[in-house]
Order: sequence, then structure tokens, then C-alpha cells
Amino acid sequence: MRNGLSKDLIARVLGGAPKYTLDELEAKFPPRNLPEGAFVTRFAPSPTGYMHLGGLYGSLIDCKLAQQSDGVFMLRIEDTDTKREVKDAVDIIIKSLAKFGLKYNDMPEYGPYYQSQRKDIYHSVAAYLLEKGMAYPCFLTATEMEEIRAKQNAAGFATGIYGEWARDRDINEEDITAHLDNGEVPTIRLYSTGNPETRIFCKDAVRGSISFPENNEDTVLIKSNDRLPTYHFAHLCDDHFMRTTHVVRGEEWLSSFPLHVQMFRMMGWVPPLYIHTSTIDKIDEETGKQRKLSKRKDPEANVAFFLESGWPTESVIEYLGNIAASGYEEAKMKGQVKSFWDYEMRPKKIPMSGSLFDMKKLEWWAKEYIATMPVPDLVKSVVDWANEYGSEDNKKQIADIDFLTSVLSIERDNPKRIRKDFITWKQTLSEVAYFWDFLFKPNKEYEYNKDVLREFLATYDEKDDKDSWWQKIVYTAEKLGLKAGEVAMNLRVAMTGRTNTPDLYSLMQVLGGVRVRDRINTVL
Ligand code: GLU
Repeated sequence: MRNGLSKDLIARVLGGAPKYTLDELEAKFPPRNLPEGAFVTRFAPSPTGYMHLGGLYGSLIDCKLAQQSDGVFMLRIEDTDTKREVKDAVDIIIKSLAKFGLKYNDMPEYGPYYQSQRKDIYHSVAAYLLEKGMAYPCFLTATEMEEIRAKQNAAGFATGIYGEWARDRDINEEDITAHLDNGEVPTIRLYSTGNPETRIFCKDAVRGSISFPENNEDTVLIKSNDRLPTYHFAHLCDDHFMRTTHVVRGEEWLSSFPLHVQMFRMMGWVPPLYIHTSTIDKIDEETGKQRKLSKRKDPEANVAFFLESGWPTESVIEYLGNIAASGYEEAKMKGQVKSFWDYEMRPKKIPMSGSLFDMKKLEWWAKEYIATMPVPDLVKSVVDWANEYGSEDNKKQIADIDFLTSVLSIERDNPKRIRKDFITWKQTLSEVAYFWDFLFKPNKEYEYNKDVLREFLATYDEKDDKDSWWQKIVYTAEKLGLKAGEVAMNLRVAMTGRTNTPDLYSLMQVLGGVRVRDRINTVL
């Protein structure tokens, strides 16, 4: 501990008197009135204009833990890095959460939820630390810090502002006043009393207690350029006063974990329980090795990819949920739960390392999901997707909803034999494209038996029920000395251009007499 600063000097150092005392803040944000064991979690993205799949994974865990414990899940926008600010970035986050069904609760009592609007709170806590001698104003310039760094590098010391390198650690009131009179704006630094020879124990809900060397860096709490807090300090104040019980964040924060625990202890506050999640990985196509999803190389690193290419958002959630809680898939297959939201996940079982996100596996979840959708829901999803993201052709496909409904109803009435060839909304529309004349591509390579088509056409009546229709196929086959399957295949290719399709009778019914005749005649 160093000497605390006087109230007047604190006001000058911070560019204004603090608005609250700590007691006032405690009273303003009282402990939440929630059932015992309720989780209070938050997703705390920086608005960079990009939502990473890892962010969706973390926020799913946040949302699920809060939901299953009757707790609260908040969205906190960490917009203190004004240099990185991007237009519409917050909208992208809010829209993505909504699309994936992650509902947050922004009780105004604990807000505001934009860090840029919480300056009063940070400055009030900083004032307390300055008063108690647990923080100090530092007037080092960028050039001076560069010089320190160069010296440390040359002498083989760890770089940073700590111990004797921290020139202003014990700066007195007189010198502070002189700098301020000179028009300088200080950064506010932590007065660290940590000793790297000693270890600090930090509790992670998944990893248990982890020990690290104590932090001795005089970390920046408030920046000089805009007097906004750093992540470290903002998270300390926010997670305390928002009464967060569990901080779910990426494992890249493990290295600053000792600093965070140190700050909570200094304040005499109980830290939240941390859950550091593993990165989301993939198997690299070239090397065959598992690696982190890369923003640059992997389109699926960006949540927008799933929306634009029409993946059922629920299936992405199901799959991510199964990564976070590996027992989920089995419980679902056994019919014990219907969706991830019904499954009780255990924080302790969240994986600690390299979680694999495999697009092939996602396909399986998507197929399963679509197969269980009632047709009207399927139609609505396809239509909504096409309206927002679809091509002009897709928009034409959805113009006649009744027709689209008939197309998508094929092979969906027998629960034991539901087709599983739909994966995404985009792919669904391309899978069934042949129903629309303007998209239908006649198969010119196929060696048709034109007699088959002629004979069938002569007997064809669109009002035939399935049995009569089949009788006519059998009849044509017998007449030409062929197998019924060969007749059906000729028809199938003529109707769709493909050799592999769902039920031929149903699809011919949906195509209707005019198209059926047209397509046969085209071949003939
Ligand atoms: N803004 C931080 C990030 O985007 C938040 C980390 C946290 O959840 O505490 O990584």
C-alpha cells in the first residue's frame, strides 16, 4: 500500500469528482433477489462487427446455465476500446443472439449495459483505490515506456511496468500536482503488491483451483486518452455490481486470471466463479491436425455464415450444446429430452480443451432437426430465410406458398420414414429446385428408353391413385419386357433429371399432369 491521495487531488487526477462512494454503489446495486443457486451470467462481447462461433458457444452456456437455474443472463457491451469501434456491431450481436434463440434479460436496475455509459461507476471505484493507496496516477509517456521496454529487453527482464520500473509508483502529491499543472492526463495504475515468487490460487469451476505466480504488474485500470477503463478493471467493477455469479469466458483469459483474483481480493469482494471455455477447433483439411477456427480461413468461424447459408439455428445450438454437455446427445436419442433446453447441463463437465466443431457432425444435427419439424414450420423457415438471404431464384420458389408446401410435404407423413436429405434452408431449396420449370434441368446424358415414356404417357392419368399408377408402370414394363424398376427410373429421370429422388408417385402428383406430360414430351 502507498499513501492515499486527497479528495481534491483524486478529482483532478480523474478529471472530475467521483459520483458515488463504494457504499452508495453497494446500495444502488444490491445483491439480487433470486432463488438459491440461481446463476447470474453475462455475455460480454466487444463490438467488433463480427460474432465468432466461440462467442455463440460461450453465450449459449451463459444462457443455459441461467435458464436452468431460474437465474439471469445479461448482455453487456464492452465498448471501451473506442479505436476498435465498428458501426452496426452491436446490432449484429443482438440480432445473432435473437436468431439463435438466446434471450437475455436487461433489468434496468443493474444497467446501463454499455460500458461506455458506466464511467461514473469505474471512476468511483478508481477514486476509492486512489484514496486507499491501492492505485496511483502514472505520467509515463509512450516514449518513456518504450525506453523502459528497451532496457528490460536488453537486460533480459520481463517487460512491463512493475516494481522499480514503475517510476511513478510512489509519486508524491507535489509531483502529481506539477504534472497536472502541466496539462498531463495520467493513466491510473494498480499499485500491485503481488510477488511472483508466491503463488495465488484461483478457482475455475471446470479446472478446480489453479495456482499462478502472483501478479506484480501495475496494470492500467483507467486509460489516459479517454479515461475509460481497461477490460481488467471494467470487468472487476461490472461483474461485482451486476452481481454476476459465473463468468463464462474464453481460455485466453486464463493468463490474466491471477490479476483478476488479486483485484477482487484487494476490494474485499467475493469473485464470481469462473468458467474458462476451451477454444472451438476444427481439423485442418491440409494438415489433418486439430487447430483453432480461424477468422481468416474458416467461414464457419463467423456466426453470420450459419445465418446466410441457412443452417437451422436450432441445430447449431443443439450441436454446440452437445459440445458443452457431452451427455446431451445420448439423452436426446433415448428420448429423455426433446431439446438442449430441457437437458440439465453441469458446469463441471464443460470441456477444458480443444473442442471440435465438425461441419459433417453439424449436418447430422441439422438433418435430424429438420426431419422432426412439422411441415408448416419447415415452410416458414425456408420462406423466412429466402426472404432475408435468398437469391432471386429462391424468391421465385417461395412465391407460391401452397406449391412450396406440397413440395416440402413429400415423404414427411410416415414418422418412421421421414426423408433426411434436407440440411440447410438454402440446400433444401436447391434440393427441390427441379419442381420449378425455370430451374429444372432436363437430363441430356441419360439414355432413355423412349418406348417406356411413350407407353406410359399413353396410359397416364394424373387422377390415378398410387395403386393404379403402379399398375400402369407394371403394365408398361410387361409390355416391353422390362422390369418395373426400369420403367420407374426412366420416368424419374424425365421428371427430375436425377436418378435419386424421394417417392416418385408423390413427386409426380405435386408436379401435376401438365408438367408431367411436358417433361415426358421434352425427352421424346
Ligand atoms: N470483452 C471480452 C471479450 O470479448 C469479454 C471477456 C469476458 O467475458 O469477460 O473477450
